Amino acid sequence: MTERFTGNFTQQEPIPDDGIEAALDVLRHGRLHRYNVAEGETSHTALLEQEFAAAMGSKYALACASGGYAIATALRAVGVTPGDRVLTNAFTLAPVPGAIASVGGAPVFVEVTKALTIDLDDLAAKVAGPDTPKVLLLSHMRGHICDMDRLMAITDAAGVTVIEDCAHTMGARWNGTLSGRHGAMAAYSTQTYKHANSGEGGLLISDDPDLMARAIILSGSYMLYERHLAGPPAEAFERVKYVTPNISGRMDNLRAAILRPQLARLADQCAAWNARYQVVEQGLREVPGLTLIERPEKEGYVMSSFQFLLLDWAEEDVRAVVARCGDRGVEMKWFGGAEPSGFTSRYDSWRYADTPSMPKSDRVLRGILDLRLPLTFSLDDCAQIARIIRDVVGSVFQQAR
Ligand SMILES: *Cc1c(COP(=O)(O)O)cnc(C)c1O
Repeated sequence: MTERFTGNFTQQEPIPDDGIEAALDVLRHGRLHRYNVAEGETSHTALLEQEFAAAMGSKYALACASGGYAIATALRAVGVTPGDRVLTNAFTLAPVPGAIASVGGAPVFVEVTKALTIDLDDLAAKVAGPDTPKVLLLSHMRGHICDMDRLMAITDAAGVTVIEDCAHTMGARWNGTLSGRHGAMAAYSTQTYKHANSGEGGLLISDDPDLMARAIILSGSYMLYERHLAGPPAEAFERVKYVTPNISGRMDNLRAAILRPQLARLADQCAAWNARYQVVEQGLREVPGLTLIERPEKEGYVMSSFQFLLLDWAEEDVRAVVARCGDRGVEMKWFGGAEPSGFTSRYDSWRYADTPSMPKSDRVLRGILDLRLPLTFSLDDCAQIARIIRDVVGSVFQQAR
């Protein structure tokens, strides 16, 4: 009998009850704007920032409207101006090159390796030239973290500022250090499919008072920045307040209210994701033709999704795998399609960027299959998903030979 999976790959868990209570409270008093506080009240947004900075071990934190907005704000804060080239990953999601384009920058894509991380040899080559870009927007795409020690050695030596896109690595670590603590600034997303869910939302952290003062004013603080609990001292704002534009993108108290209890549970959630990831990984070991992504020992990953490679497979066979898994209820995304579809897209879909072809990355991208593992799936669900993929990949591989 052929098994069929009946779970929903886009169904996240409900908002925790204490988050719902806090949200109802905000709705009842009506003070949703982050700077609209009663006498003696501290807003949920300011508290969220304080708690997030503490959780990440950063000096400062800012909550804002989306992950993409947080990235664009970081790019502005570090001084990217129209016409500047910005290094970034060839394998990432559309809001990353989009954030670069939003500040008038030009993405310079760095190749992706079979580990699905940025190719550090290519990065080293791209910062060796005479007109090296000044900024690297490093995307830890789908939770895969490169050798951060080597990356920082390369960028420090070249004088390149690193902004980390941690949309998929909230709670993850490299060699014990939390993801987002290597670069000058790091951006997180609290959009529904990430590690905390407020529908839309973003967080930005930094230890640099000047960068964070600029980011807070950019986000639309007006001259109310003293109401931030995780912001730099007043003198940092004095240095930048007249020359930093307001580009409104604040978070509101409703979203902050539902995020605070979720962040308090982040470690448990991360463990639950990894348990699911490891069941799928175990179930897909030693499938002929299927390449697993081996994770380095130094990588303390948090995986809310799963990727594997069908490296050098014919396009029609990959399509057959996706279609037959789909028929059996296992929804997978393929990064190799010529046309962008759904949430997936690849560097050559972003034609506003002037990009040479990247054959090494093309080979990897053509092989990537991707599935979400929401926490509404049980470990048994994950085992069943792996059995179905194993069965389909095995039989398509057999037929193809
Ligand atoms: C989701 C995502 C973002 C942006 O997040 P939004 O909150 O949707 O703007 C950035 N980078 C990556 C890799 C993402 O997956």
